[in-house]
Formats: sequence, C-alpha cells, structure tokens
Amino acid sequence: MIKKDLVVLTVDDDIINLKLLKSMLLKNPNVKEVIEAKNGSDGVGVLKTRNDIDLILLDIIMPVMGGIEMLKIVRADENLRQLPILVLTTDETKKSEAFECGANGFLTKPIRNDELIKKIATVIV
Ligand SMILES: [Mg+2]
Repeated sequence: MIKKDLVVLTVDDDIINLKLLKSMLLKNPNVKEVIEAKNGSDGVGVLKTRNDIDLILLDIIMPVMGGIEMLKIVRADENLRQLPILVLTTDETKKSEAFECGANGFLTKPIRNDELIKKIATVIV
C-alpha cells in the first residue's frame, strides 16, 4: 500500500465480518480509519456525509440494499465514479456482474489478511 492515512468504508450485513475486516485493516499502519455500514443503503448514507473515503470493501448479498445496487448508485455519481471498490463475497457467480457494474477487484470469502492487503495495493496508488 502506497497511500497513507487511508479511510476505508466496509459494507457488510454480517457483524462478525465487519469486525474481522476492521481488525485486519487496522493492523496496517497506512489505514487511518475504518467506517462500518451494515448494508448498501447505509453505505450510500455514509458517502453522503463523508468525502474523505479512499476505498470501499463491499459485500454483495445484504438486506435492504445489496452490493450490486450500491455499485450502480456509486458509479452513477460523477463525484464517486473513480472511487476504488473491492467486492468481497462467497458467491463466485456474482463476479462478472460485479465487474460489469464497476467493481475494481474481487475477493472470495473467507478473506485472508495478506490477500486483502495485496488486493488493496492494486487499486490504491
Ligand atoms: Mg452478506
């Protein structure tokens, strides 16, 4: 990871996953803050109040608003079009749809710390 003071938005309906991601991310000295959202709607809400997000880690299957829908909303927003988004899911079949909707990368759960950091380095410069 090159950029310092990263602010990461994690969006997942599974609280355990959110906690796990947060602890993994905060082990990296370049990560300044991890913001948690429990579904796509919550995530979009965070993006309306914060303009300092550097990266989104996004689950696909969530109640209220799933990851694909959130991707579409973010990519339709002129100010957020370039924001790096990594999709994290157990469902490999969603991979092509996620990329079509503008995801920058894809990781299959369970997430391993070294894989996560490597993947983040491919989208954050
Ligand atoms: Mg989920």
